[in-house]
Amino acid sequence: MEMTASRILDGRAVAHAVRAEVAERVKALRARGVVPGLAVVLVGDDPASQVYVKNKDKAAAEAGFAVRTLRLPATTPQAELEARVTELNRDRAVHGILVQLPLPRGLAAEPVLELLDPAKDVDGLTAHNVAALWRGEGGLVPCTPAGCIELLDRHGLGIEGKRAVVIGRSQLVGKPLAALLLARNATVTLAHSKTRDLAAVAREAEILVAAVGRAKLVRASWVKPGAVVLDVGINRLEDGRLCGDVDFHEVAPIAGAITPVPGGIGPMTIAMLLANTARAAARATGLAERGSP
Ligand code: NAP
Repeated sequence: MEMTASRILDGRAVAHAVRAEVAERVKALRARGVVPGLAVVLVGDDPASQVYVKNKDKAAAEAGFAVRTLRLPATTPQAELEARVTELNRDRAVHGILVQLPLPRGLAAEPVLELLDPAKDVDGLTAHNVAALWRGEGGLVPCTPAGCIELLDRHGLGIEGKRAVVIGRSQLVGKPLAALLLARNATVTLAHSKTRDLAAVAREAEILVAAVGRAKLVRASWVKPGAVVLDVGINRLEDGRLCGDVDFHEVAPIAGAITPVPGGIGPMTIAMLLANTARAAARATGLAERGSP
């Protein structure tokens, strides 16, 4: 990897480009009589979830989707939540369904996710889509990991043959990202809270991804000079500012390329949600195109 001054990977600019392409595809679908529909299910009043859902709704509406947000009280019984998801599964105007996580205490996410029609599972979290991802069968892929790959691709940062280390093994980010990097022929290490000598493991990486949820965990001494560093973490500091899992000021001078927080992976996540929904709509109506994000 070349040792040039660090490049800041601007997720907002790339997300803007992806969203513009999705908007074109939505236009083409509409011209053929299909209005791509996204349903977002928000249970309870978690403040962070409210903000995420608002941003997703706005982006989807801007791209031309018909957006329906189902707001349910935190006291909604499990059976009713499942009944509502089943209705959305049956609704032909809905091509993508997103259940905003976490669900309030007392509600189990797993059975709700398993109910989702895999063809409408735009978060890629059903067992069907998880299996498709690991088998390389082209199902719907979780938005944040898909956004990481898209950001690398659009900056021309190669993946094949590289040593990739992903810190964090959640179902939502770490595990699916490991699968995607592996599918692109990286040599992948998946690290977590029990990893011994994490700093040394991280320092091996040519592509280092932090998806942990610990502010400034990744220090300069953890990073191989010239490495590409993707910071997925979103942490709120005491003064209210957002901060990633990477100590940006320390690491930026060493990294070959690095994503900022905010303005890196976050905007890519929303862009990929729209791309997934457009793809789901195209597939549902037999208008699928190949090779689009
Ligand atoms: P999560 O489910 O809490 O998983 C965190 C992972 O980090 C776990 O695998 C955990 O290991 C590992 N971990 C925790 N402490 C560690 C440590 N000290 N050293 C090494 N590994 C450690 O979190 P998530 O849902 O993947 O999210 C991770 C972060 O990304 C959060 O800040 C979240 O807000 C952010 N996020 C951002 C976006 C976006 O759009 N940018 C989307 C999703 C999430 P164990 O498995 O051993 O417990």
